[in-house]
Amino acid sequence: MCYADTTANGDGTATAYCYCGWSENCDTMEIAEQAAERHQNRQDDQD
Ligand SMILES: [Zn+2]
Repeated sequence: MCYADTTANGDGTATAYCYCGWSENCDTMEIAEQAAERHQNRQDDQD
């Protein structure tokens, strides 16, 4: 099971990422947190 996290960028955007290698750049921290949660819940996604 993935455990995604988020990090704030200096320009006001945020990045959601996971130790599995997934990451997603988002316009805001709120969107990044939603993306991280969505990634964690995708347990069937073996990529
Ligand atoms: Zn992951």
